[in-house]
Amino acid sequence: MTKVYDDALSTSTIYAAENNVTAMVERGGAVEFFGSTLDLRQCAVRTYTPDQLPLLQGMVTGLYGTYRYGVREQAPTIRISPRAYRRAWYSPGVHEIVLPGARWAWNDMVLCHEIAHAASGCGHDARSAHGKAWRSIYAAMVAEVVGPEAGLLLQAAFDL
Ligand SMILES: [Zn+2]
Repeated sequence: MTKVYDDALSTSTIYAAENNVTAMVERGGAVEFFGSTLDLRQCAVRTYTPDQLPLLQGMVTGLYGTYRYGVREQAPTIRISPRAYRRAWYSPGVHEIVLPGARWAWNDMVLCHEIAHAASGCGHDARSAHGKAWRSIYAAMVAEVVGPEAGLLLQAAFDL
C-alpha cells in the first residue's frame, strides 16, 4: 500500500477544529451547517477517570479493529503516564498510546485522536501525522463515538 502524503492542513488548524467541535458539542443545541441545522443534543464527549483504563483499552481494541487501515492486526496498548504532559501520543515503535496524567486528556476526542494515529500508521513524528488518512479515520471514529453530527462538523473543518 502506498501512503498518500497530504500536509494541506497545519497542526494548529487540526487542533483548532477539534477544540471547536468539542466546544460546540459541550454547548449543545443546534448549529448552522451549510444552510441547514445540526442538532447536537445527541452528541456527547464523555470524560473518563484513570481507574477506567480497562474500559479505555476495550475502546482502543474495538475502534482500532474497525478502523485500522493497512496496519498490523494487533491493537495498540494504552497506558497513563504518571507525568502531566501537555500532549498525548502514539508511539509506533512500541505500538502504544500514552495519555498524560492530566485530566484534560481523558476524553473521547483525545482517545479517538490517538487511536486514529495508530489505525492510520501515522505517529506524531511522521511527515504527515494529520494527513488525509488520519483525518478520515478520526472523523469517522468521532462520528461513531461522539455522534454523527460531530463527525460532520469535523469533516467540514478538515476539508474532507
Ligand atoms: Zn496527533
